[in-house]
Amino acid sequence: MPDHPSQLDVESIRGDFPILSRVINGNPIVYLDSTATSQKPKQVIDTLADFYRTSNANVHRGIYTLSEESTAAYEGAREKTASFINAASSSEIVFTRNTTESLNLLAYAWGRANLNEGDEVLVTLMEHHSNIVPWHMICAERGAVLRFIPVTDEGFLDLTDIDTLITERTKGVSFTHISNVLGTVNPVRELVDKAHAAGAIAIVDGAQGAPHVAVDMRDMDADFYVFSSHKMLGPTGVGVLYGKRALLDEMPPFLGGGEMIMEVREDGFTWKDPPWKFEAGTPNFADVVAFGAAIDYLTELGMDRVRQHEIEITDYALRQMRSLGEGVTLHGPPNPEDRGGVVSFAIESIHPHDIAQTLDWEGVQIRAGHHCAQPLMRRLNVPATARASFYVYNTNEDVDRLIDALKKAGELFGR
Ligand code: PLP
Repeated sequence: MPDHPSQLDVESIRGDFPILSRVINGNPIVYLDSTATSQKPKQVIDTLADFYRTSNANVHRGIYTLSEESTAAYEGAREKTASFINAASSSEIVFTRNTTESLNLLAYAWGRANLNEGDEVLVTLMEHHSNIVPWHMICAERGAVLRFIPVTDEGFLDLTDIDTLITERTKGVSFTHISNVLGTVNPVRELVDKAHAAGAIAIVDGAQGAPHVAVDMRDMDADFYVFSSHKMLGPTGVGVLYGKRALLDEMPPFLGGGEMIMEVREDGFTWKDPPWKFEAGTPNFADVVAFGAAIDYLTELGMDRVRQHEIEITDYALRQMRSLGEGVTLHGPPNPEDRGGVVSFAIESIHPHDIAQTLDWEGVQIRAGHHCAQPLMRRLNVPATARASFYVYNTNEDVDRLIDALKKAGELFGR
């Protein structure tokens, strides 16, 4: 039991995650890669299996009981998603495959309608490739220019020249809520307001935001906010595109086909209202229903408690890593309050891949690589980092196992 009602009961949470009983290379698993994808509680796994066992039928199409039940469950998950992020209406929630698809949808549907020669899109140097590449592609197509907000040595956005970066040429500002490498929690509202003051739209990549902190669309005022189910205890194959209704109304559809149309004629077609206008073809309804169970699970835990837990474990991890002494570089803001549960690090004379490999022998699962953030790697002047990341099921004991395994790696590599 936790010491305080404001704390997560991590012991009981761990009991919900079957995978945490696995043994890897002779050691109990320590899973420290939730930034890449989270593990799933039995409530989500069971919802998915039960749906296929009892309620599977295509949505929106059938006038029969099973299809009506399936449609109600699918649309019910949309309602849950809307209330989880405090959207004004469930019609502002479009289901996609993942964050990447949501950003591509925006780049193409919004970009083709709104970007012209000489216009600018502003992103940041700490973006995941998913929030860079679609903009490179649409800017090249439309003759627009992609610009970058720099990053300070401490791992914050460098907003010193923001008023010269956001100008009347800027049509969109797209930035991450929380960095998947540095953990930095960005000043979202400040950037949203600056974008709006210049007449630009604000797009927030919430892939590392929505799973870890309470988000409120009406308070944030972002025009679009995107995230992935698989990073927040839900199944793979489900992404969310939140958009303000007026913008979704204005924006042309991205993909065409069944489900998104009102009428198809030989000389053209008309489309449905949002959100269905953006959901061409059979949606991934079974996984969406299970995503609804993930939202229920997180809601039950309480996102403020989730955030507090991550601050505490990150604080502990940063202190333990610092105690390893010289030769250990920690990337990102020094204060755990300024960051999510992500710790990227380097150990002098051991390649990040070798760190991850030797930790694996101890059952400790961390990621090493460029984390789909090559411009940021160049800014940090490193080819790759090792990265440990935490979620609701991680404990200080997991951090201790990480530290012990790092000490062993140090000995192995003669440090
Ligand atoms: N944006 C950020 C900040 C991420 O961390 C990730 C995944 O790690 C993505 C976007 C892409 O998410 P997905 O692979 O689910 O599309």
